[in-house]
Amino acid sequence: MAEITHLDDRFSTCGQLQLDDLTSLQAAGFHHLICLRPDHEGGIEQPTAEALAARAAELGLSLDYLPVAPGQCTPAQVQQMHVLLQQRQGRILGFCQTGNRARLLFQRAKALPATGTSTGIEVLIIGGGAAGIGLAASLLKRAPDLDIAIVEPARQHYYQPGWTLVGAGVFQPEQTRREMADLMPTGVRWIMQAAARLDPEQRQVTLANGEVLNYTTLVVCTGLELAWEAIEGLEESLGHQGVTSNYRYDLAPYTWQQVQALRGGRALFTQPPMPIKCAGAPQKAMYLSCDFWRRQGRLSNIQVDFHNASGVLFGVSEFVPPLMSYVQRYGIQLHFQSRLIRVDGSAGKAWFENTTADGQTAIVCQDFDLLHAVPPQCAPDVVRRSPLADAAGWCEVDPFTLRHVRYPDVFSLGDVCSSPNAKTAAAVRKQIVVVAENLLAHLQGQIPPLRYDGYGSCPLTVEKGRIVLAEFGFGGKLLPTFPLDPTVPRRSAWWLKTTVLPKLYWHGMLRGHEWLAAPSQTHTLEQADRK
Ligand code: FAD
Repeated sequence: MAEITHLDDRFSTCGQLQLDDLTSLQAAGFHHLICLRPDHEGGIEQPTAEALAARAAELGLSLDYLPVAPGQCTPAQVQQMHVLLQQRQGRILGFCQTGNRARLLFQRAKALPATGTSTGIEVLIIGGGAAGIGLAASLLKRAPDLDIAIVEPARQHYYQPGWTLVGAGVFQPEQTRREMADLMPTGVRWIMQAAARLDPEQRQVTLANGEVLNYTTLVVCTGLELAWEAIEGLEESLGHQGVTSNYRYDLAPYTWQQVQALRGGRALFTQPPMPIKCAGAPQKAMYLSCDFWRRQGRLSNIQVDFHNASGVLFGVSEFVPPLMSYVQRYGIQLHFQSRLIRVDGSAGKAWFENTTADGQTAIVCQDFDLLHAVPPQCAPDVVRRSPLADAAGWCEVDPFTLRHVRYPDVFSLGDVCSSPNAKTAAAVRKQIVVVAENLLAHLQGQIPPLRYDGYGSCPLTVEKGRIVLAEFGFGGKLLPTFPLDPTVPRRSAWWLKTTVLPKLYWHGMLRGHEWLAAPSQTHTLEQADRK
């Protein structure tokens, strides 16, 4: 093992650790490790921070990942080290390739004046999805020295809008997945834990391992939870006998496999009660499947049914006529107010609760050969059970400023926030700008200057090669990015979805480049008041 140098009675440094070294470190009395070497810097010889963290956890140690490029230690990283030294209990070992970066950062952090832990992390972000990573990157573009930490337990990050295309054989699943470590903006501290409790009165977040973090401002962006268990028999049926869902990374390829395999019979597509993420996704899976069967000459042998728990095909009325023309083209049988409640995959049967106009309900059973199911969706427990939740469980923000209505030092964006926009990554792209500006203004004691217009977008894949690009804001107001009739299915929109938007996501939104992100109606509060 690399030689350990003790810099004071609590903090020591050493060169690159291997997984086997951790047992002796625990025996030597260390409690906490700080990995300062970016993953992959040393090639395959270097265990990833994720692997080291997993081994550390087995031994009762904890590990923080604070990657510092050689010779590029930033003031924000010094500040983060400073916070870590105050927060971590017991003996700490910082390591990098040789120990030099760990020593340098420690010395600079120690030289900062003590602040106590009461103010804690300046910006604590819960969730490293589209919203969390994108916001951190945008904040750092504006304020490179800002002390930001992201609490995120997942090691992988997903581009979920790509799953519709995986389910249609257009994308490979791997195109929608990246290592979380590769996306964490430089200068952000990644806390590889889940948040278990949010206590805005105390300005504290308790992690799943019991550790308590203090913050100055909190950003809640945990996304939402898919309640698979709410439909009896669904979880155990998924992935077998034609039961699938594009709402899971591992199942989207199974959708494509089953669509290709189906030559006749009945295909059911379901949509749960709103709100859900990407309200168009249940239909997108259906239209792309129908288009494939049509091109293969099989559609006349396949009965397609769409069971929709809502009473309308799409929430913004302008987009219903173009969708209806595809429903007719594919011969789809529509069932409104029809909610999937039970599945028996091995018997190939699904049960629906149908509600009539006078409120009567009836249970109906249908046989199927393929079932694309979408589960009901809700805010994660940690938010739903916190003082931040509204009556429905979402993080209760002012829909315009995206600041919490009761706790001014809390912001929220993305799927978990209560703003009544379409829950999409496109909405997140615009919300990031609003939250970044408003949060920084708040830190300076100023009034949040920007207002969100509710922009969200749903590229409705009505056939392979054509999309109806639905873009709209609060109240269903159309907000097209391009000066074209948005209700017309277009090849250009397909090109946008398959080529431009993924690049915009990975290289723009997650890197703090706010391309196509200035919300069209974003304006200052003063401007809004004048209207
Ligand atoms: P997410 O990206 O889901 O990230 C949430 C993060 O929070 C996750 O990394 C999670 O691990 C983490 N987290 C959860 N709980 C905790 C906790 N307790 N502590 C710490 N971290 C936690 N959008 C579009 O714009 N266009 C589309 O065409 C489109 N199509 C879609 C198709 C499908 C099939 C699906 C599933 C989604 C689609 N979306 C689309 C929606 C889009 O993916 C989401 O709206 C977007 O990802 C929301 O970002 P988010 O950061 O709020 O949530």
